[in-house]
Amino acid sequence: MTLKKRMDFIDLKTQQQAIMPSLQERIQRVLDHGQYIMGPEIHELEARLASYVGVKHAVSCSSGTDALLMPLMAYGVGPGDAIFTTPFTFIATAEVVELLGATTVFVDIDARTFNIAPHLLAAAIADLGKNPRTASLRPRGVIPVDLFGQPADYDRINAIAAQHGLFVLEDAAQSFGGTYKGKRAGALAEVAATSFFPAKPLGGYGDGGAVFTDNDHLAEILRSIRVHGQGTDRYDNVRLGINGRLDTLQAAILLAKLEVFPREVAARQEVARRYSQALESLVEVPYVAPDCTSVWAQYSVLSDARALLLERLKQAGIPAAIYYPKPIHLQAAFAHLGYQPGDFPVSERAAARIFSLPMHPYLTQDDQDRIVAALKTGR
Ligand SMILES: *Cc1c(COP(=O)(O)O)cnc(C)c1O
Repeated sequence: MTLKKRMDFIDLKTQQQAIMPSLQERIQRVLDHGQYIMGPEIHELEARLASYVGVKHAVSCSSGTDALLMPLMAYGVGPGDAIFTTPFTFIATAEVVELLGATTVFVDIDARTFNIAPHLLAAAIADLGKNPRTASLRPRGVIPVDLFGQPADYDRINAIAAQHGLFVLEDAAQSFGGTYKGKRAGALAEVAATSFFPAKPLGGYGDGGAVFTDNDHLAEILRSIRVHGQGTDRYDNVRLGINGRLDTLQAAILLAKLEVFPREVAARQEVARRYSQALESLVEVPYVAPDCTSVWAQYSVLSDARALLLERLKQAGIPAAIYYPKPIHLQAAFAHLGYQPGDFPVSERAAARIFSLPMHPYLTQDDQDRIVAALKTGR
């Protein structure tokens, strides 16, 4: 029997080999100039990111979570404000709302895309005053999440938000590299947040994130909030902010990764295409709307036989994951909002049936064949 190489859920080592010379050169340059905080790589990265996404301003920061927090701070979100988002996302999307003392109002997802359902968003805004729990709240903003790498339906979301005077903050933590009607994720609302957590489509070797906007005034406030609310200089503080900077070393690493990123996006799409072709008779494969492309942060399928299929993968030594096993409205940290099981049936049903397969640009045809065979036969 030949010993099979352990398969990675996300293979960052093969990618590292592919970019090693550029990576080493860029890291060495930082070690040589020594500007570890806000060095020249930060400005170079921000210019490259803004140009890739197609917006005027990219403000790099310390994580995707801070990239969500900073725009909310810039808008002055606080107690008494209602912010609409879905319960079927990573905890950070709603956590930042609660950290500022505002109230998360959850809206269920579309069953096919897992993104916020626009008609349910409109209904939730209209119903805010009718529910005693939310009647005193002021609707302020929407945080649509581009789940698993596919953008939400921004034409409809932006129109609903505009009708009610709400801001839209795109959670593009998973969708950097995806598109909606020919525009890149990060450019789909007045402000957007992305993450460079290592496992994201564009991941660093540590934490990082960025905020995108075309709004000059907002960009200036975000840059101030990023450094303790600084004004004209470091010791002039005009508002409360955070220590939200990206490290220069992470910017250097991301610059090296950005060089191969377009190629990696294409490779991810090919991996997803092969999965869908091989698995469509076995599970519900992902739906991508005709006006969208996904960057496949996750390749997630639905099945009533999830437990059996996960066991088959486990027996074959293939890693899998569940994003997300428990929707946020049922998390203990959100119990104070008073939601109950059954409140968001589409999210709850997805949580019970979903699982994700290994997905990265360097997944070989052989490994993919192994994954498909294990799912189909348990061997
Ligand atoms: C990863 C993620 C975040 C948070 O990003 P971090 O860089 O880990 O702080 C926020 N929202 C979504 C949807 C995410 O997937």
